[in-house]
Amino acid sequence: MASELPNWQELSDRLASTLPSTSYRAATLQILEKVTQLGPMGDPEREFRRIYRFLHYNEPSRVIQVLDELLKAHTERREHLQIRNNAWKYVVRAFDSWVGRARIFYLAVGIVEGALRSRLNERLTAVYGPTWPTQAGLVPSSVVAKLKEEADATVIATIHRIVEETQSAGADPERQVSAFDAIAKAISTRDTELPSNGEEFCRRLSFSDLRTFFQSKRLWGSAANLGSLFRPLMGHGDPPLRGAVDEALKTIHEVRNEIAHYRPSGKLSFLNGLLATAKLARWLEVDLQDFYSAVDTKFSTELSHLLESHYPPLRSRLANGGATCATDGCALGDPIDILLQRAPTSWPDEDAVRDASLGCAYHRVKVREAAHGVV
Ligand SMILES: [Zn+2]
Repeated sequence: MASELPNWQELSDRLASTLPSTSYRAATLQILEKVTQLGPMGDPEREFRRIYRFLHYNEPSRVIQVLDELLKAHTERREHLQIRNNAWKYVVRAFDSWVGRARIFYLAVGIVEGALRSRLNERLTAVYGPTWPTQAGLVPSSVVAKLKEEADATVIATIHRIVEETQSAGADPERQVSAFDAIAKAISTRDTELPSNGEEFCRRLSFSDLRTFFQSKRLWGSAANLGSLFRPLMGHGDPPLRGAVDEALKTIHEVRNEIAHYRPSGKLSFLNGLLATAKLARWLEVDLQDFYSAVDTKFSTELSHLLESHYPPLRSRLANGGATCATDGCALGDPIDILLQRAPTSWPDEDAVRDASLGCAYHRVKVREAAHGVV
């Protein structure tokens, strides 16, 4: 195989006139060296151009990180991972799948996040009234500091804008006076930036601020008793400890940040994020599937795609008796997908696997609708 590989360096030099960036060409060489270890490639010049172009949209270091992960998986699971067609297409496909799964995960986790905000506000309102943010010492001080910092940043941005507009308007004394007034007003209203209304306050919280509320020992126990918002995992046993909830929030936080900054690197899998989110949902006494289908009953089973590498084996296991819809007499056929009755909270989650079946697109919707009493 190695003897068939072209001299990439020579090719890179030859293409310099049409692909002028030295750094992109160097990165392309580095990437090609790894891609050729994955599987076969097509016409060398065409492949070179494709990768070079891809790097205009994807940071080279991330592409290399993803490639390293694919190579690792390739070495570990050689029998399942045979790339026969085109190795570069396979890499691009890995990026595409990441984007597809990221969308599913981000939405699912956003819904759970909304539930947390809602329940936090409900609890604090019940104990301290609707203006709980004004209660002395109740809101964690780091949250107050961060929200004030944001308010400051807004004021500074406003001042910048006013100054820029006034400068571009030329030396008009009247305009300058009104600019000073506008600046004074922006500064004087700054302190009232923090909303006193609990609902509005919660809406302003970033994910990490929200997490801070559940990290606070003071809020977890005593009057606010946030700990009691979380119930035992399977409906019996002990409720989760503060540390366990924070561990799940930490995992979600990390995966969420990777998506927010389009960072398909280091970790292509969303499995840990899915398990953490499903666990958090179950602690809130709702299954993640139900959370998800509360938004759209048609797509709740998309969550099964987040099972990543467990998905194909699970599908073939379920398809043992033929890859058809589990509903009797259904003749609709493809697309057949895994129909999870509930989201796994760990892996292997024998309960979730046992209740799984295959369903056609139509019956998947029917099952979700039935679960929600939608007619
Ligand atoms: Zn069917």
